Amino acid sequence: MGRVAVVTGGSRGIGEAISKALKAEGYEVAATYAGNDEKAAAFTEETGIKTYKWNVGDYEESKAGLAQIEADLGPIDVVVANAGITRDAFFHKMTPEQWKEVIDTNLTGVFNTIHPVWGGMRDRGFGRVIVISSINGQKGQAGQVNYAATKAGDLGIVKSLAQEGAAKGITANAICPGYIGTEMVRAIPEKVLNERIIPQIPAGRLGEPEEIARCVVFLASDDAGFINGSTISANGAQFFV
Ligand code: NDP
Repeated sequence: MGRVAVVTGGSRGIGEAISKALKAEGYEVAATYAGNDEKAAAFTEETGIKTYKWNVGDYEESKAGLAQIEADLGPIDVVVANAGITRDAFFHKMTPEQWKEVIDTNLTGVFNTIHPVWGGMRDRGFGRVIVISSINGQKGQAGQVNYAATKAGDLGIVKSLAQEGAAKGITANAICPGYIGTEMVRAIPEKVLNERIIPQIPAGRLGEPEEIARCVVFLASDDAGFINGSTISANGAQFFV
């Protein structure tokens, strides 16, 4: 039996590519999702990877869901906190609801995903925590005060967890993707994408979900054991920290 990996938001977009790549490496993978039952069923049918439905913004749901995965597959060795949303608006128009929804999913959701499995990782002396942050957490983005705040927060989470987990064999790292061709990005009007976003990417293209998945596979591996508290930027040279 391979190590057990959980990918939140693992049934579509970047998460789907991560789930598939980890399975191809021999991990026992569980993918979670929020509400798109149809996509999740098609994903399971295609990959054989079981899906679990809960809201990452809810601690009790997350704890129960992760416990179910451990009952089904065994102790969780690798957790990929990938689930995320956008609710974009310029700050003067941003509603408290838009702020809260994004904080609950992208920031509290990361706490809720890692906290229930952290104790077990400490007890067993091994763990890999990988958080999917964003280029916009590194550089900020007009219209995304809520989103950028959560993604910058993710970087604080992994740097702190790295210091707490290192002596227990646990690593915690973040990946900051640039613009990746998923539904989240394809939802941006094509004109904006072609005239304002792609010209800012020196690579001249969107990234592929598989390019992020390969970063996850590396960070999850034994070879990456001394990489802890780091951020991998995968953005086609759009931004350097
Ligand atoms: P998608 O919108 O394609 O997929 C999001 C996934 O997260 C879905 O599986 C969705 O479930 C799940 N999800 C959303 N909200 C919740 C919730 N409350 N509880 C549980 N699951 C939830 O997103 P992407 O693949 O584009 O993005 C994945 C991650 O990568 C996000 O954190 C995003 O911020 C980050 N990112 C993406 C970039 C991009 O260019 N696409 C760039 C930089 C970072 P369901 O299918 O049920 O809706």
